[in-house]
Amino acid sequence: MSSVGIIGGGLGGLAAAATLAARGHRVTLLEKNDWLGGKAALLEEDGFRFDMGPTILTMPRVLERVFSEAGRRMSDYLDLRRLDPQWRCFYDDGTVLDLRDDPKDAAAEIGRLSPPDRAGFERFMKVADRLSDVSDRFFFWRSVEDLRDTMNLKQNMTLATLSDVMALRMHRTVAGQIKKDIRDPRVQQMLEHFIQYVGSSPLASPAVLCGIAQMQQGEGVWYPMGGTRAVPTALTRLGEELGVDYRTGVDVSAIEVENGRAVAVVADGERIVFDRIVSNMDSVRTYRELIGGNAWRDFGHAKREAACSGVVLYLGLDRAYEHLAHHNFVFSRDPKEEFQAIYDRGEPAPDPTAYIAAPARTEPGVAPEGGEALYVLVHTPHLRPGHDWSRMLPPYRRTILDKLKRTAGMADIEDRIRVERVLTPQDIHDRYKVLDGAIYGLVSHGRVNGAFKPGNRSRQVRNLYLAGGSAHPGPGMPMALMSGWIAADSLHQDATANTAAE
Ligand SMILES: Cc1cc2nc3c(=O)[nH]c(=O)nc-3n(C[C@H](O)[C@H](O)[C@H](O)COP(=O)(O)OP(=O)(O)OC[C@H]3O[C@@H](n4cnc5c(N)ncnc54)[C@H](O)[C@@H]3O)c2cc1C
Repeated sequence: MSSVGIIGGGLGGLAAAATLAARGHRVTLLEKNDWLGGKAALLEEDGFRFDMGPTILTMPRVLERVFSEAGRRMSDYLDLRRLDPQWRCFYDDGTVLDLRDDPKDAAAEIGRLSPPDRAGFERFMKVADRLSDVSDRFFFWRSVEDLRDTMNLKQNMTLATLSDVMALRMHRTVAGQIKKDIRDPRVQQMLEHFIQYVGSSPLASPAVLCGIAQMQQGEGVWYPMGGTRAVPTALTRLGEELGVDYRTGVDVSAIEVENGRAVAVVADGERIVFDRIVSNMDSVRTYRELIGGNAWRDFGHAKREAACSGVVLYLGLDRAYEHLAHHNFVFSRDPKEEFQAIYDRGEPAPDPTAYIAAPARTEPGVAPEGGEALYVLVHTPHLRPGHDWSRMLPPYRRTILDKLKRTAGMADIEDRIRVERVLTPQDIHDRYKVLDGAIYGLVSHGRVNGAFKPGNRSRQVRNLYLAGGSAHPGPGMPMALMSGWIAADSLHQDATANTAAE
């Protein structure tokens, strides 16, 4: 079996490490920070506990598959609770709409707000179900870089394949698909926000990504007791049991390539030789900063833009807001204005959508008694030249708090704040070495190619594999975990094919 070096201990890196170790490889994971889990980091202060990055966990079956690689049960490592409602939505006109866990209840709730949209939602979910099924069969669990990798169109154009291709609705955007089925702008706005899981605009993303709605409505929203942070903690424990050598505080500055093959990494002046390498660092920065040369020229040829970034306020409150659910969206007054500002003009939205996590609803211990560990995330553009968040933050913090006061019934929020910390796009950029401060890897814009990301088996460098939110199948916890599994599986296939040939 191979000796494998993994650069980065985000969810993709940890999933790859555990999978590879379970299959018998010798794994060393090098992480520049002094914690493992990357963006799934933790902040604790004065009795408040905050997940710093991801808070909404969907598709736990992906995580389950990583544990099952080693013959373990995920439930022995994680206590997951299914949430209902999945989201509570607050609108500028005072409407409150719950997205319920059971699709029938969700349709009924939507129908109470807008009667024709009950059936419209059911139609939309049928389409989402079909798209999710096509994704499962052609897109997930293997290294994919473009349409050619998904379906063998030339050799295998059967009626069934043709019907799958048609189902992808390549002429349509996410927003276009939703408009086709849903009339009420508030319901449209809620459904458009599924695409925020990949940090992209519904006006520019391909309709196939409507499948995300089914992945959440069909499979639930889950909360790991102990917070999302419990996920990397569980994966790290699994890897430890399987013999993974974790080294934190190690910043990799280069991948050495000889005769087109990755052979070693350089970290803090030391050269460490491996048979194969997995990079969980941002894919663009891996090629640009760690490899360079022809490989970077070839990879960098395709224009790749970062997905959106964001500002997070971590607010420790001395009194809870009981009208909040665990997950809440406080919607902008005008989604078009919001998306055009963030994605077209590259400016923070004047009246943004704020996502609020109030995990005390499920786990009261996250705050001192009666209090609230509030997490407020507002999406912003990825970093552009001239963006200086030390200057931009104070007025934008005010915009965000005013929004919560106006639209989410939190008029006295400033009186309740006991602890306040913040994460800016610049912090995200520096802490996790991502592309232009992106939260969700690469943007998913483009009706035909928007869903495709760099594949997990490098086309440019042999024995190099990519895992993480900026590689296939994309960002978000389940996809980053899946990318780690795919990178590990591709590596294992190559390593065992080589052994068989010897
Ligand atoms: C504020 C915020 C909110 C989010 N909310 C959600 C959510 O609710 N639900 C959801 O599903 N997803 C959410 N996400 C997205 C999700 O967190 C990410 O898609 C996922 O965690 C990314 O995992 P990754 O494997 O790409 O690794 P990352 O988390 O990006 O970690 C990469 C790791 O590699 C390390 N590294 C990079 N370069 C080097 C180097 N040269 N040498 C050594 N180490 C290196 C970094 O330090 C880092 O630890 C959110 C993200 C953020 C930031």
